[in-house]
Amino acid sequence: MRKPIIAGNWKMNKTLTESKTFVTSIIPLVNNINECEIIIAPPYIALDAVNQLLNNTSISLAAQNISTEKEGAFTGDISINMIKSCNCSHVIIGHSEQRLYHNENNQKCHIKCKLSLENDITPIYCVGETLAEREANKTLAVIKNQLIECLDDISLESKEIIIAYEPVWAIGTGKVATPEQAQDVHTFIRDTLAKEKGETVANKTRILYGGSVKPDNIDDLIKQPDIDGALVGGACLKADSFVELINKTNYVTH
Ligand code: PEP
Repeated sequence: MRKPIIAGNWKMNKTLTESKTFVTSIIPLVNNINECEIIIAPPYIALDAVNQLLNNTSISLAAQNISTEKEGAFTGDISINMIKSCNCSHVIIGHSEQRLYHNENNQKCHIKCKLSLENDITPIYCVGETLAEREANKTLAVIKNQLIECLDDISLESKEIIIAYEPVWAIGTGKVATPEQAQDVHTFIRDTLAKEKGETVANKTRILYGGSVKPDNIDDLIKQPDIDGALVGGACLKADSFVELINKTNYVTH
């Protein structure tokens, strides 16, 4: 059984005060949620304060990225130990905005995933094709490459990784993949994991869909047998839509 996940990626939104106000407002609304794992990824500046508010709740804390380096002269970067010191249990790696604006690539994602797993932090590894790649029928080849190059020589038998399939053309655009399009890619991801890492790893790994997920389109996505939840951008920024997504996912287990 794979417990579903709703993960909220706040991106570069919310000040420190706004972050604290938002988290304080959602905690009582998700108190009764048992069947859905909730993860939030605030900006770095709010991680420590949000961590303190999340004490005694079941909401997990994620960082939005980490450096490939452990420490040193890397102005503006954040290390694995820094996010650990804020009690992060998860980290988003390979988000398409990092790939697009900050030269993130599969090789760097490989180093980051390894670093996270060595430190018992669960990576949420993002994969996904651009519109041009989809139109050129390259979707599966791109995803396969992103999986193989990142996960090469990483053993997942006793560790967890979460994969997020996020078609780049669907992120923040309002264009959502159809449940069938998403399911097809999720099946492919699970099959690739089975070939590369074995059936047990493939069956236990949760694969999230991301790309313009909202309360009015989550139902049909989450019903798909290989969609184990969602990585959500825009709709996680308002308490009502974030909580509605969680409530709608709370009873679905694959
Ligand atoms: C994301 O940032 O991971 C994302 C899926 O964003 P949105 O839901 O806004 O498309």
